[in-house]
Amino acid sequence: MMNNWEFTDFDAELFHRELDSFIPDIIFDAHAHWYRADHFNPESIPALVKAGPPIAGGAAFDHAIEQITPRRKTEGLFFPFPHPSIRDVSKPNEFLFHELQSRPNSRGQMLITPDMDPELIREITRKCGFVGLKCYHVYSPTIPTFDSFIEDFLPEPQVQIAHEEGLSITLHMVRPQALADVANQQTLRRYCRKYPNMKMILAHAARGFNAHHTILGIQSLKGLDNIWFDTSAVTDCGAVEAIIRAMGHEKVLYGSDFPVSHLRGRCVALGDSFIWISNENTNLEVPYGKIKLALVGHESLRMLKIAALATGLSDSMIEDVFHGNARRLFNL
Ligand SMILES: [Zn+2]
Repeated sequence: MMNNWEFTDFDAELFHRELDSFIPDIIFDAHAHWYRADHFNPESIPALVKAGPPIAGGAAFDHAIEQITPRRKTEGLFFPFPHPSIRDVSKPNEFLFHELQSRPNSRGQMLITPDMDPELIREITRKCGFVGLKCYHVYSPTIPTFDSFIEDFLPEPQVQIAHEEGLSITLHMVRPQALADVANQQTLRRYCRKYPNMKMILAHAARGFNAHHTILGIQSLKGLDNIWFDTSAVTDCGAVEAIIRAMGHEKVLYGSDFPVSHLRGRCVALGDSFIWISNENTNLEVPYGKIKLALVGHESLRMLKIAALATGLSDSMIEDVFHGNARRLFNL
């Protein structure tokens, strides 16, 4: 069995055969996490973090991402790894700031929690030069946090600060139907209309892990200019195509979701939900052989290639998705 983080001939061959000719030389990775393993509670550290480099900043990222997209020059929008065992986000934010000092062409988003004073967010983003905010449902007071409304983990006063400071916000929506959820749609419209200088980035193709949710909900965002979508960790087809058709390819940002890029498996739509297929939870012995799982980073690039083919993107439009759109968004 091939493990997470392990890079094999199978992966190199898959990249060479399917992806090498599709991916531009220059990449801006709009969704990647930098972290230190010792910032997590050792009792509840995620298995993926435990199995990987203990210090995953710029150097470890460069080494690891060379396996996913070899021979490319990658800069990015980096943020900490949000996790329930990390309640005090100041150390992860300091680590992010520290790592960005040697990377003038990359940018950082500060990890925030809903109880954080908006004025403190303003002060830290100014002091550290962060271009945006990363919120996450695990910090929501609603239990289970997967049922949270956007306001529960991204309160309006924090959005107002983002507007006043011209910051981006990467939002991984939750609730069972994500963008097909009317409450999510209403909040997105309200926040984007009321705070036009805030730049909303909907992670995972508007959490389109089940493409039908993004397909059903995408029309609700038409007419909003300050909204973008990253492709990170989306491995099923349909959601990115729907976004390109409804909003334009200019709104799509490539993201690896490092270190999720180094998991093996795929996230697939199942019924009205989705599931992450892994070596651990799926019987991969089939009558026609033994299935080898690819890296999520490669599965997501395969999805993006199909989306580009399906929507007829030209080479220069594909370059936009991989770096041009992010360059314009962050004035790089
Ligand atoms: Zn992520």
